[in-house]
Amino acid sequence: SKGMAKSKYEYVRTFEVEDRCLQNCWIVVRLDGRSFHRFTSSHKFEKPNDKRALELMNRSAAAVMEEFRDVSLAYGQSDEYSFILRKNTDLYNRRQSKIMSAINSIFSASYVYYWNTYFEDKKLLYPPSFDARVVLYPTDQNLRDYLSWRQADTHINNLYNTAFWGLVLMKGLSNNEAEKVLSGTVSSEKNEILFKECGTNYNNELPIYRKGTVLVRKLVNIPPSKSKKHIISPLHVDIIGDSFWEEYDEILNL
Ligand code: ATP
Ligand code: ATP
Ligand code: MG
Ligand code: MG
Ligand code: MG
Ligand code: MG
Repeated sequence: SKGMAKSKYEYVRTFEVEDRCLQNCWIVVRLDGRSFHRFTSSHKFEKPNDKRALELMNRSAAAVMEEFRDVSLAYGQSDEYSFILRKNTDLYNRRQSKIMSAINSIFSASYVYYWNTYFEDKKLLYPPSFDARVVLYPTDQNLRDYLSWRQADTHINNLYNTAFWGLVLMKGLSNNEAEKVLSGTVSSEKNEILFKECGTNYNNELPIYRKGTVLVRKLVNIPPSKSKKHIISPLHVDIIGDSFWEEYDEILNL
């Protein structure tokens, strides 16, 4: 039969390398928009944060979670998203290139597919693309530290960007002048500049900007039948402290 036939070319398969992710490790796939500095400026994103773009990122990440049940949590900010696969997942036999390329493809295609849902009156001018990497973390602490690292990055970048665009858009400073005012300042000084110069209390900025987005699966009741169902929910909460992990303790125990 057709399936049994082996051509003399078959041997080329042996050049493929084994790339199975080490057992028992958390698999993290992080995507990041390629040259999004240019992409956001070509598409005139609102600065410092275009909320529609963040919601489009969240929708695309939810599409990944709809497709792969073994993605137990995802965290996104700016032009990046991290996907956490439960440590004993058998998805694609744990083959790294398969997992990473499939997640990137679902995400990237969804970003284009849902573009007009979020940017109703903005034409997509060219195809956006994302790079991807896989990182394995052997302990729960390593995984939590990874996510803390990404959320701390969100805070640092967003505080800087909010202060920078506050000085430019509300105080009329040039980009260079704003950069100079902020250079060498610590967090508390940026908070104070924002408050005194722009009348902005950083703590009142939207949580989606300050905290990024965590996508989790929540068990909800379906009213008439009283059955339960998992839905993918976006949260904009602290994931550095213990309380998130106590509330969603099933994530680490999957
Ligand atoms: P690389 O290809 O190396 O990742 P990059 O230009 O994408 O280059 P990043 O460090 O990933 O560089 O930065 C992402 C850029 O996209 C930043 O300039 C950030 O301000 C911008 N950006 C991402 N999301 C938004 C958003 N929702 N609103 C406004 N700007 C955004
Ligand atoms: P997997 O996810 O494992 O790759 P698959 O369903 O994509 O599963 P493939 O072995 O890749 O399986 O087969 C691709 C399928 O798509 C085949 O059924 C093939 O006939 C069909 N297909 C691909 N391109 C065309 C085309 N241009 N016209 C008609 N059918 C096509
Ligand atoms: Mg990059
Ligand atoms: Mg980028
Ligand atoms: Mg980035
Ligand atoms: Mg196929």
